[in-house]
Amino acid sequence: MPRRKRPKLAVYKFASCDGCQLSILDCEDELLAIGEELIIANFTEASSAVLPGPYDLALVEGSITTPHDAERIKEVRRQSKVLVTIGACATSGGIQALRNFRDHKEMLSVVYARPEYIDTLATSTAIAAHVPVDFELRGCPVSKHQLLEVVSAYLAGRTPAIGHHSVCIECKMRGTVCVMVAHGTPCLGPVTHAGCGALCPSYTRGCYGCFGPSAGTNLPALSGGLVKLGMKGSEIRRAFHSFNAAAPAFEKEGLAHDD
Ligand code: SF4
Ligand code: SF4
Repeated sequence: MPRRKRPKLAVYKFASCDGCQLSILDCEDELLAIGEELIIANFTEASSAVLPGPYDLALVEGSITTPHDAERIKEVRRQSKVLVTIGACATSGGIQALRNFRDHKEMLSVVYARPEYIDTLATSTAIAAHVPVDFELRGCPVSKHQLLEVVSAYLAGRTPAIGHHSVCIECKMRGTVCVMVAHGTPCLGPVTHAGCGALCPSYTRGCYGCFGPSAGTNLPALSGGLVKLGMKGSEIRRAFHSFNAAAPAFEKEGLAHDD
């Protein structure tokens, strides 16, 4: 029986640490099965063998930080039938979006001996701010399990079964004792997107929001709780302005507190 045509997968990198691409490679037990279903056609972190586009499914890591990025993502979009962004960098601009709140030229002069050689934008922005995106997968890095769900859903022709509830719900589902209530530990779990399985609270530490904002949450109410636990305005601002500083909900709540 002739083998059915497998869709072609491409994985692209923009401004990022490569951690989300490593999450793909971390699917050790599943990679062979993925290779049975998809042609891994363009994934230079994994192989220098690159097949030409167009590609059926593209996973895009990283944010747009340079004029070159801003042009390149348009070509990536043209080459990709379905485009999924993976990780905090690609979905909200990442930690590098901290530049959005400062004078980036001043920062360049502090970091680089010859800043005139650096060609960069004043902001770091999500891929969706530049081209249409079919699905956004959050996390810093993304969850391997959610990544496999996105790929499986693509192959099955359905919407990924990924909810938009908070890390708080994941704590309740796994029976983890609330670190805020039981220990007075500041935690962003009540407003952070689920996906990690409440990893940090399960080790008795607060969530620091690496999956970005969840849907339908009350950030000012959480900030009020953080104040009651003794956090200053500058600490609350820094808590929201980390990996997902430019995610609109976290950006707004961070700016509501003194730097
Ligand atoms: S989201 Fe986090 S792990 Fe992924 S590329 Fe960006 S910094 Fe790295
Ligand atoms: S608990 Fe929060 S900070 Fe820790 S991995 Fe999960 S989302 Fe990230």
